[in-house]
Amino acid sequence: MRKARAVVTGGAGFLGSHLCERLLSEGMEVVCIDNLLTGSLSNVEHLFGVDGFTFIKYDVTNYIHVPGPVDFVLHFASPASPIDYLELPIQTLKVGSLGTHKALGLAKAKGARFLLASTSEVYGDPLVHPQPESYWGNVNPVGPRGVYDEAKRFAEAMTMAYHRYHRLETRIVRIFNTYGPRMRRNDGRVVPAFICQALAGEPLTVFGDGSQTRSFCYVDDLIEGVVRVLFSEITEPINLGNPQEMTVLEFAQVIKELTGSSSPIEFRPLPVDDPKVRQPDITKARVFLGWEPRVPLRTGLSRTIEYFRKTREAL
Ligand code: NAD
Ligand code: UDP
Repeated sequence: MRKARAVVTGGAGFLGSHLCERLLSEGMEVVCIDNLLTGSLSNVEHLFGVDGFTFIKYDVTNYIHVPGPVDFVLHFASPASPIDYLELPIQTLKVGSLGTHKALGLAKAKGARFLLASTSEVYGDPLVHPQPESYWGNVNPVGPRGVYDEAKRFAEAMTMAYHRYHRLETRIVRIFNTYGPRMRRNDGRVVPAFICQALAGEPLTVFGDGSQTRSFCYVDDLIEGVVRVLFSEITEPINLGNPQEMTVLEFAQVIKELTGSSSPIEFRPLPVDDPKVRQPDITKARVFLGWEPRVPLRTGLSRTIEYFRKTREAL
């Protein structure tokens, strides 16, 4: 019997590379498609010799041609850090719209199940807290962050249209802040930013007064959730994230403590439309998937700090 075959767009990125590894370990063949816009070959190089793994350097906003059978298409391609998508606004809108359309088209042509990596950003600066999937969000379409938020909202709408009109099997995961090894040290997200600043003895740059909240999920927990959603029958969007919420200032203190750093904290202006609070309501994932995060924050952060220590020595 042939092995199941999955296409992962954005597979050379942070989450995509962990997902490729996990699907290979589930016994699947994996075709990783990535144009390396914000990802890196170093995230997947160790998979090059692995049986069943193929890497294709390609921009998925163009027609995607994959020879042979495909059983699953997991669409993870998109800049994901605020710095990246503010620098790459058009590519972000294109990969969320045209890229999602092409990935859906591939799934339809192959009769494959499609999974969209959506985001908590579809809730914008939320007026409901914590955020359940039933909340429609509070997004500024014309603000600088709109390029990401609206692209993902469009991607969700397009995915549901393919499901309803073409009867495609689709899944949507709304991913909340996730961290772990293989984040880019300079991608501007708070986890690599604070860890690398602390390790270098530089000031930790807290935006605003640091009272805004986030909830951080370790990558292994997130990937476990993605796989459970993929094999579930849940077509409606489902939140995946860690409900343990803290302020950014508290988070800076935790990083200082875990790295043993004496870096000072410096306050910088808050970016436009930066959400004031964010915490997933994961009742749906708990009830329907039996999923919840298992890795405590300090354990996940220690592993991530170790990764940045090692890659820093290699620089
Ligand atoms: P990442 O930047 O590390 O990975 C994204 C990958 O997509 C990169 O390898 C990049 O080169 C690739 N890519 C971008 N445009 C492309 C294109 N046109 N064609 C082919 N490849 C392209 O980011 P990540 O954190 O791994 O995020 C992966 C996905 O998960 C994104 O869709 C993101 O929106 C979503 N997500 C991530 C988080 C998080 O906390 N990490 C939270 C919510 C949603
Ligand atoms: N942040 C910060 N200092 C940094 C980077 C980010 O204080 O050097 C803040 C940012 O303003 C936001 C939170 O940390 O309130 C999380 O930012 P991140 O870019 O990781 O992701 P977001 O949740 O905003 O998409």
